[in-house]
Amino acid sequence: MRFLITGGAGFIGSHLAEPLLDRGDRVVLLDNLSTGSVENIRHLKSFPRLEYHLDNIENRQLLAELVDDADVIVHLAAAVGVKLIVESPVRTIETNVNGTQLILEAACKKRKLVLTASTSEVYGKSTNIPFREDSDLVLGPTTKGRWSYAASKALDEFLALSYWKEKKLPVIVVRLFNTVGPRQTGRYGMVLPNFVKSALESSPITIYGSGKQSRCFCDVRDTIEGLIRLMETARAVGEVVNVGNTEEISIEDLAHRVKGRTASSSLIEYIPYDQAYEPGFEDMLRRVPCVDKLHALTGFRPQISLNEIIDRVAEHFQQKIEGLEHPRVATASAD
Ligand code: UDP
Repeated sequence: MRFLITGGAGFIGSHLAEPLLDRGDRVVLLDNLSTGSVENIRHLKSFPRLEYHLDNIENRQLLAELVDDADVIVHLAAAVGVKLIVESPVRTIETNVNGTQLILEAACKKRKLVLTASTSEVYGKSTNIPFREDSDLVLGPTTKGRWSYAASKALDEFLALSYWKEKKLPVIVVRLFNTVGPRQTGRYGMVLPNFVKSALESSPITIYGSGKQSRCFCDVRDTIEGLIRLMETARAVGEVVNVGNTEEISIEDLAHRVKGRTASSSLIEYIPYDQAYEPGFEDMLRRVPCVDKLHALTGFRPQISLNEIIDRVAEHFQQKIEGLEHPRVATASAD
């Protein structure tokens, strides 16, 4: 099979490319390096079946050629990370909506299967836990910038599903829930890499708000497994599917867990949302996926434990730090 992965030099894209190349597929990555990096794909360059283009989706001619050459398009290119969204709302909305439109338009001409990544953010402030794909989306007001991300991804979903309904373009929409693992950067605000990095550097682990808000963290290997299985499932076409782990933890407990497993001496500090993001920032209190649909379609449920995830992320950062600075070795305690 021939895969085109947009955002292929990003955290999830680079992880998806690995098993596909390993099993003998051809993989073409398209990435403008806005949040991805060449570092993420350096280890893949030895695969002869890998091709990559450091370019924009807006390069329509290139996109048309790459779509033509592919059997399946995985659209992961997007503006992600709450910090990035709060700081650059115009870029977020334009990147997410225009990018998806260009992909669907190009894929439609050649009737190529598109798997497009959405996000658990679309459920917004809903308290109807666990989140099911057919539940109502509850977004905050347009004056609060955070919700522009959810709205832009919801529009992507509408667009993809409309292409399926009206033009019979095969599409699959996946809603990803807090995907984490090695190579994810904390630069755009993601909590787990930030906590682990701080813990290893013995700098303060900063909890935003009360820390009572919770999330479910999904190992990127589980996420990838879900995506690959869905792309091989004919019944997934035209569907929206949650992909996430159901193990829930409060951010406060996460801070203590990370500190414990890395045997860190970091202090744990609390920062009000207003200071962490912007005045009037609204967070989501709980975000738990229902993965019954994913299981019914593919027979698969993400299940890699949070402890294993934290240990692997810590190991990754440790290797990076050692390469640069040779600091102390952190030991993971068992609990
Ligand atoms: N968060 C935190 N400290 C950080 C980064 C994030 O307490 O250094 C909180 C954030 O406010 C949110 C949760 O951790 O409640 C998850 O944030 P993230 O940006 O990773 O993902 P989200 O689920 O909000 O998209």
